[in-house]
Amino acid sequence: MRIVVDLNRCQAFAQCVFLAPGVFSLHGEEALLYQPRVDEAHRDDVLRAAAACPVQAILVECRGAGGDVR
Ligand code: SF4
Repeated sequence: MRIVVDLNRCQAFAQCVFLAPGVFSLHGEEALLYQPRVDEAHRDDVLRAAAACPVQAILVECRGAGGDVR
């Protein structure tokens, strides 16, 4: 699955960092880093993080069963 964070929206509230620490991290007070490609094992954490983001800055792209899932 792939993730895109709209860094213009992100206010560095860090909810995503707490919910999916293996995927999101904060460097300094407001620089969010994230992995754009995430293993399916992190799927639930990432979806929770996206749902918890107060400004809906996290977009998650999941491939369906018909996609080119590896
Ligand atoms: S929860 Fe949303 S606003 Fe907060 S750091 Fe993550 S992406 Fe940014």
